[in-house]
Amino acid sequence: MSAGGHPLEPNPEEMRALGDGALDLLVRFVEGLPTASSADLDGALELGRELRATPPPEEPVPFERALATVERAAAKAIETAGPGYLAYIPGGGLFTSAIGEFLAQGLNRYTGISSVAPGLAAIEAGVIDWLCDLFDLPEGSGGILTTGGSLANFSAVVCARSTLSEDFVNGNVYASEQAHHSIAKAVRLAGFPPDALRLIQCDDALRMDADALERAIAADRDEGRRPCLVVGSAGTTNTGAIDPLPRLAEIAEREGLWLHADAAYGGFFQLTERGGERLVGIERADSITLDPHKSMFLPYGTGCLLVRDAERLRRAHSLGATYLQDLEVDEDLPSFADQSPELTRENRGLRIWLPLQLHGIGAFRRALDEKLDLAEIAYERLRDVPELEVPWRPQLSNVAFRLRDGGEEDNRRLLERINASRRIFLSSTVLDGRYTLRISVLSHRTHGDRIEEAVEIIRTEARRAS
Ligand SMILES: *Cc1c(COP(=O)(O)O)cnc(C)c1O
Repeated sequence: MSAGGHPLEPNPEEMRALGDGALDLLVRFVEGLPTASSADLDGALELGRELRATPPPEEPVPFERALATVERAAAKAIETAGPGYLAYIPGGGLFTSAIGEFLAQGLNRYTGISSVAPGLAAIEAGVIDWLCDLFDLPEGSGGILTTGGSLANFSAVVCARSTLSEDFVNGNVYASEQAHHSIAKAVRLAGFPPDALRLIQCDDALRMDADALERAIAADRDEGRRPCLVVGSAGTTNTGAIDPLPRLAEIAEREGLWLHADAAYGGFFQLTERGGERLVGIERADSITLDPHKSMFLPYGTGCLLVRDAERLRRAHSLGATYLQDLEVDEDLPSFADQSPELTRENRGLRIWLPLQLHGIGAFRRALDEKLDLAEIAYERLRDVPELEVPWRPQLSNVAFRLRDGGEEDNRRLLERINASRRIFLSSTVLDGRYTLRISVLSHRTHGDRIEEAVEIIRTEARRAS
């Protein structure tokens, strides 16, 4: 690299060649997604060993060779970017967001403290303002972009913990049995003792049983414990169940508890009319976790925490340091470093802002509406398959099903056969103590044709299994 100038600074011509090479790879990749295998891990272990055993070279290698290695490494994978990826919670990965990220990294502006790059910090703050508005949060609300839902949940738990000041060993946190395990992780990382988390039973629709929550809080108070936080799931990972948020808000308000809504999966359905109706009550939460890398289709690495009173977020996270004394605090703009565990991190605003500019909010609303329709279609079609039971009508875009007469082994084999089609890729969970398969429709690249195909594959394999 760079015959003339500094060896670490490619010249303009080289920069263009690098950009062209990378772009060419990505365009071929996205073009190939509709026909790509939904999973190809043949020989992945050997490839992994080889790649890991290759140390970085002392002298430069040509870009083509490095690119070829990247392409070869990426090829052995579950195709999480493709239309057949219906496992866990998909996102797809918007190309326009990748371009936003490229710009952000190329510019390498520091946006942790707003006075260093007020313009770019304002873009990020503007995205957060838009999200606060989307959830009807009042003046004084704010938030941070994180690397994902897990860290957003962590900061929410830290905020809620601060309501107990330093004396939180007797603190209690409440979440449903269907809550995401990142809540339990956050409670542990925030320093609560292992028994602080109370998992509340669910009703038949897998939503938190609010009466059971009230009983648990009362029982804990009777024992002299200090309840501090209720976590409501706004779309569970397993089935998309939405806890009774208005009831939880009432209880939290009456009991003086922090209410956190974990909407990492379900949050952006708020953009749709149906989603807004189903998520009602979320606007009363003290904090909300969102995952733009799920329901906004962004590439992995972007989560978000919104907080009703941003000052609480700041108080829970800010500490000063003498070596930062030159940095002015901007009165109008939040400094993200004061509101999060991080000091230095990449500018995360452009990767959300650019897709919103280039596609418009309407494109997201329509794509999410389509996912709700597709899940409904999958649910109706699978219910017509006599070998299957499909116990829960989707509240959002996840559909769980299993063999009517089959144990764990049979269902496990069914999943293997379905995934062996290499056209779709599903994952499993345990519900009612039974091994259960699930479809999660959330990639912006998944449309009706792939869902029809998925149903056909599942129908055929379910018949074979019985
Ligand atoms: C995915 C998910 C999380 C965790 O988010 P990450 O971005 O994977 O860290 C938390 N809660 C729910 C409901 C989720 O679906």
